[in-house]
Amino acid sequence: MSEATSIKHQLAAASPNPLAERLKLTLNYDELSNCIRCGFCQPSCPTFKETGLEAASPRGRIALMKAVVDDLMVPDSSFQKQMDLCLGCRACEPVCPADVKYGQLLEQTRDAIEKHTDHRWWIKPIRNLAFQQLFPNQKRMRLLGSALRLFQRSGIQRLVRKSGMMNLFPETMSQMERILPEASSKGVIEQLGTYVPAAGNRKPIATVGMFRGCIMDVLFTETNMNTVKLLSEAGFDVIIPPTQNCCGALHAHSGELDQAKDLAKKNIDAFQASGVDYIISNAGGCGALLVEYGHLLHDDPEYADAALKFAGNVKDVSQMLMEKGSIPEFSIDKAAASHGQVSITYQDSCHLRNVMKAGNAPRDLMNRIEGAKLVELRGADRCCGSAGIYNLVQPEMSMDILDHKMEHVKETHAHYLLTSNPGCLLQMKLGIEREQMSGQMKAVHIVDFLYEHLANN
Ligand code: SF4
Ligand code: SF4
Repeated sequence: MSEATSIKHQLAAASPNPLAERLKLTLNYDELSNCIRCGFCQPSCPTFKETGLEAASPRGRIALMKAVVDDLMVPDSSFQKQMDLCLGCRACEPVCPADVKYGQLLEQTRDAIEKHTDHRWWIKPIRNLAFQQLFPNQKRMRLLGSALRLFQRSGIQRLVRKSGMMNLFPETMSQMERILPEASSKGVIEQLGTYVPAAGNRKPIATVGMFRGCIMDVLFTETNMNTVKLLSEAGFDVIIPPTQNCCGALHAHSGELDQAKDLAKKNIDAFQASGVDYIISNAGGCGALLVEYGHLLHDDPEYADAALKFAGNVKDVSQMLMEKGSIPEFSIDKAAASHGQVSITYQDSCHLRNVMKAGNAPRDLMNRIEGAKLVELRGADRCCGSAGIYNLVQPEMSMDILDHKMEHVKETHAHYLLTSNPGCLLQMKLGIEREQMSGQMKAVHIVDFLYEHLANN
């Protein structure tokens, strides 16, 4: 009997580990076996780059998952640690010659872990509040926005900062508080309505449905409004279905797959009822889950076909403009340009690049801005360390990744750093703040920059 077989028999003889049993049921064994252990994914993995550890790499994590399913190890705390440390950036997927669907394996693993985790007493209510009560309920999100706005505008925020109270919180949280944008009490629908026709009374190229997001519509309402206006300028009729919901990405990435599926169904119903040709997202993180609704609901007899159709019609705003739009002219206004050429750089959203496969669409748009020079950011395709709530739950690794990212950002000497996802945008603002570069560089969502520089604006 080989050593591995002997270990397998000994472990199998011990009482079954509930998480291991769950992983055996949840993980797709064919997908695990597809990994040929070539290691081509290693150089693209940020956590492998930071630690140099095989276990913190895609190949290592897949090997750990397979070892559990093969009864060669029990999923202990170090197993869980490596799964938690993964950013879910999916940079390992496009470079994989065997087309291993790592993201799906990670989601399945996290879902199993979540079902077998005894959180500390105060974590569960917080998770319930956020995942069940808040994100899926736009009215409550609006209330949160109003409360946050009151905090920011009433002077309480200034007092809190002055009192040093924020020092009681972890450093990353207090830094985040400083760069948080002003919340809005009114979302995109309250401000623009549910329908905005193609500008200039034109025959529309297509009717698109705007996906407004949950946090996006509270903290980045202006970006949502600019997205609608930009699409209208590019010749699209825009509908914003009022019954749409949170995309479910934070749920899916945090091991709450059942809730993610419920939200997906609500969104499919909402956009189907609105009769749009395409569904447009302006946040890479949300868009990446929307394009994967087909996979998420593949075994749901009622929704599988509709989910596949929905997913096939999802596009990022940059893709939509480049592929189908009548692209308006963009230019830097003369006053700004008189101080010398305006240079811009771009940090990819991992999910837009690796999952939505937006390719060069954002850069192609940036190259069309008259008077702006696009400077390529070294390692722009590498995660910035934001990754949903990763910067809050894994602050150390997140800041290590951010600090390395900022070394490359500094080399660009750009005036503006553009991104296509709210999480990346906040992380880049944080990086600029940490490096005390606020006087030289500004982080902006690409949609806001384009809209601000519409030639006829
Ligand atoms: S590149 Fe793909 S096949 Fe190769 S080790 Fe990584 S996940 Fe496995
Ligand atoms: S998702 Fe990102 S962090 Fe996780 S294994 Fe793949 S490349 Fe590494």
